[in-house]
Amino acid sequence: MNGEVGLEEWLDAVALGDGYYHRCSSGHSTLPPGDRCPECGSGLERRPLPSRGELRSYTVSNVSTPEYDDQTPLGIGIATFGSVDVTARLPAVESGRLETGTTVRLSVEERRSDGSRIPVFRLDR
Ligand SMILES: [Zn+2]
Repeated sequence: MNGEVGLEEWLDAVALGDGYYHRCSSGHSTLPPGDRCPECGSGLERRPLPSRGELRSYTVSNVSTPEYDDQTPLGIGIATFGSVDVTARLPAVESGRLETGTTVRLSVEERRSDGSRIPVFRLDR
C-alpha cells in the first residue's frame, strides 16, 4: 500500500463517520497514511477516532493563492481527538467566531477547484 491509497481509505472512513487513527504497541498515536509508527517503527493497530475533538490552535489567512480563491479566508486548525492531533481546514464562514477549546467534528469536503478531498472541521454546536 502506498501513502496515497492509505490517505484515500482514511478519507472514505472519515466521510462515513467512521474515522480511525493508528496506535503502536508503545502507545504512540498517529494518523494514516503509514503502516509503521513514525516514532519507533512498530506495527500499528487501528483504533476508532473519537467523534469530537478540541480545537488547540488555528490560523486564518485572508490572502490566498489562485487555487484557494473560493476558500478565502482560509482557516487551518489543529484539534486533539483523544490521543491524536488532527490538522484540517476550518470553515471560512466560521472564522470570525473561532476560539481555542471549541469542540469540533471531523468531516471531508471536496475542493471545488480540483475535486480533491480534504479533511475539514465542523464546529459542534
Ligand atoms: Zn511507536
